[in-house]
Amino acid sequence: MVARASRMTPPMEYVRLFDEAAGLDGVIAIHSTARGPAAGGCRFWTYPDESAAMSDAVRLAEGMSYKNAMAELPFGGGKAVLRRPAGAFDRAALFEAFGEAVERLEGRYVTAEDVGTSVADMEAVARHTSHVAGRTALPGRAGGDPSPWTALGVFEAIRAAVAFQSGSALSSMTVSVLGIGNVGAHLCDMLAEAGAELVVADIDPARCARMAERHGARVVAVHEIAATPADIFAPCALGGVLDAATIGALSARLVCGAANNQLASEDMAGLLLERGVTYVPDYVANAGGIINVAAEYLDESADDVHQRVVKIGPRVAAVLDEAAREKLAPSVVADRTAERLMQEPVSEPA
Ligand code: NAD
Repeated sequence: MVARASRMTPPMEYVRLFDEAAGLDGVIAIHSTARGPAAGGCRFWTYPDESAAMSDAVRLAEGMSYKNAMAELPFGGGKAVLRRPAGAFDRAALFEAFGEAVERLEGRYVTAEDVGTSVADMEAVARHTSHVAGRTALPGRAGGDPSPWTALGVFEAIRAAVAFQSGSALSSMTVSVLGIGNVGAHLCDMLAEAGAELVVADIDPARCARMAERHGARVVAVHEIAATPADIFAPCALGGVLDAATIGALSARLVCGAANNQLASEDMAGLLLERGVTYVPDYVANAGGIINVAAEYLDESADDVHQRVVKIGPRVAAVLDEAAREKLAPSVVADRTAERLMQEPVSEPA
C-alpha cells in the first residue's frame, strides 16, 4: 500500500513586508495562481525570527493551494504571516499598512482572517484594498463567521465517510470531538441532532460542560479521548494531533475533523492505514470556511455557499472510493486530485 507521495511544489513567490513606523514585519507567500488569485488568510503571531515566520508562510500557502483546488474554487493558494510586535503597537495602523501591501499586488493575493486576526483587522485592511474578505456579512450574503460553514462541511464529510465505511446510521454511533471551540461546538450540535452519542474533551472545562448540559455529552480528559470507545474521532482543536501515540491508542476506525494539519508527520498516514483507520484528509473536510470567504470575495449569496459546502460529502466519498480501489492512503489520493486541479484554470466556482 502506498501511504504517502511527495507533494508537487511549484516555485513559491515571496513578498517581504516591512514598515517600521507601522510595526509591520512579515511576508506574503504566493504558492499558486493557476486557478485564480492566491487566497489564504493572514496569520498574526509571535515568531522567534524571520525564518520561522517565512517557513510557516510557505507551509500554509502550499496548504491553501491544495484546499482551494480540492474545493474547486477559482483561487490559487497564498498566505500572509505577520510577526506580532514585542511591545505596544497601533493595531489599526499595522493592518492598514498590511492593506497597502496587499493592494500593491493588484489582486494576485486575497487575504482574510486566520489565527490571531479578526473582522476588525480585516476592516482596517479594507480601508486600503478591495482584495480582502472576512468582513462583516450583509443579510443573505456570504461572509461573516466561517465556523458554522466549516462545521457543516465536516458533518457532511463524516456522513459520507460513514456511508462509505459501513452504511450504518449516525444515530447508532458515538463520536468523540476534541476541541469544543467555534467549529467543534457547531459540529456537536449537528451530530446530536442526527442522533449520535457524543464524547467531548477540551482544555477549557466550561466548553465541555455546555455540551454535557445541551446534548448529554460524556466529558473526558484531553489525554483520554483517543482511547475512549467511539466509532468516529473528530479533531477540532490544534494540528499535529495524529501522532504515533494517539494513533496507537485510537479506539475509532474513522477520523474526520476540522483541525488543520492533523497528521503530525507525513508517515502517520501509513500508520493509520496499517491500523485500519480511515482518515479523511483535513483539507478536504474543513473547506467550508474558505468556501464562505471565497463567496464573499465574489459577492455571492449564503445559498451559493450552502450549495458548495454540501458538495464536500460526495467529494469525500470519491476520495475514499479511489483510495480503496487503488489501495492508497486517502491523503495520497486527495493530494493527487488537488495537484491535477491546480493545473486547470477555471472561470466559475464549481
Ligand atoms: P477555536 O479557537 O474556536 O477552538 C479551538 C478549541 O480547541 C478551543 O475550545 C480550545 O480551548 C481547544 N483547545 C486548544 N488547545 C487544545 C488542546 N491542546 N487540547 C484540547 N483542546 C484544545 O478554533 P476553531 O475556529 O473552532 O477551529 C478549530 C480548528 O479547526 C483549528 O485547527 C482551525 O485551524 C481549524 N479550522 C477552522 C476553520 C474555521 O472556520 N474556524 C476553518 C478551517 C479549519
